[in-house]
Amino acid sequence: PDLGYMDLLSCPVLTLVHHDCLESWKLIGSGGFGEIHRAKHKTWGMDVAIKLLHYNDGTDSCLLREADLMRHGGNPNVLRILGVYQSQPKGERSAIQMGLVMEYMERGSLADLQVALTGPPPWPLTFRIINQIALGMNFLHQLTPPLLHLDLKPSNVLLDDSLNAKLTDFGLAKIAKSTSKVIEEKDEDAAGTTSYMPPEAFRSSRYVPTFSSDIYSYGILLWSVITGKQPYSINVSSLVRFRVLEGDRPDLKYLDRSQADGLVDLTDLMMRCWESDPNKRPTFMGCIEVTKKVYELHKQRVPDAVHSILKQLDNKDKNSSSFASLCTTTQTKNVQLKEHTDPTVKTQAT
Ligand code: ATP
Repeated sequence: PDLGYMDLLSCPVLTLVHHDCLESWKLIGSGGFGEIHRAKHKTWGMDVAIKLLHYNDGTDSCLLREADLMRHGGNPNVLRILGVYQSQPKGERSAIQMGLVMEYMERGSLADLQVALTGPPPWPLTFRIINQIALGMNFLHQLTPPLLHLDLKPSNVLLDDSLNAKLTDFGLAKIAKSTSKVIEEKDEDAAGTTSYMPPEAFRSSRYVPTFSSDIYSYGILLWSVITGKQPYSINVSSLVRFRVLEGDRPDLKYLDRSQADGLVDLTDLMMRCWESDPNKRPTFMGCIEVTKKVYELHKQRVPDAVHSILKQLDNKDKNSSSFASLCTTTQTKNVQLKEHTDPTVKTQAT
């Protein structure tokens, strides 16, 4: 049976999902912290996503913290965590591999969609995604205690089979406290991808993230979703920092505000979100007021937009799988074999 939000939220310890409960593993992605696999849960009768950490040396506590934070996912635009994966029965400590069992999102991430489309999705869908991200972020900020995401970027926005957006990857999230934890410079890596980081993060090694840090990232994300491009042409982190501190932001020349009703309002919102002064940035409540209005203008045309994009993606998939079937190189065969191998065996073998 499917687990309800309330079951998960009231559950003092997360459900343990043993390796034996899962079958048909497939590697679907990889990030800084580990690999993401898809597998079928035998008794739940549904696909799940499992995030396995690269290493097991004390990072379990990091994973459990992420699991705990993601349990807050009682919102349609925040990814649900279904349990904690364990590769071996308790007792065989050295052989145990831990992971997070999450809702499987059929259409991958917004970053994947951007790569597949080489441009923004049709406007109605773009505006729905923008509104859904703001709704998910507002939910996190309204929790008691509030939750900061601190790593908002296209690869952390996942899409379901109808291209609805959900936020994921709370690995870097910190519970906002009145006496905020000071992040030391050595934690710099944990402060998110440079292009989406606010200028104040570069000004001081004693940077304290706040609600407005997430708002800044949302402003950059708005630009990226609307243009379908990466925020900066340079991808040298230190140069991006330098330019952002100088007041540079993603180029507005890529944005033709006359292309759709509401784009003027969204551009204005985007620029307020990426203000250098954090105090001048809006809240997510303020963002929703704008994004909802713009989404409402185009809402009726969302089903057509979703249909056309799904068709495009499926055609692309068909073409690439028929191409793959033509490839008979050893390398291709190895990749296919690897994808269907039990991840615990693969991890030991590599
Ligand atoms: P990093 O965590 O280092 O910032 P990232 O966000 O790209 O990088 P992951 O969170 O590990 O890394 O995700 C990698 C990719 O795996 C995603 O971009 C997405 O394509 C896929 N993915 C992640 N979670 C899921 C999920 N629940 N369902 C389906 N696909 C997922």
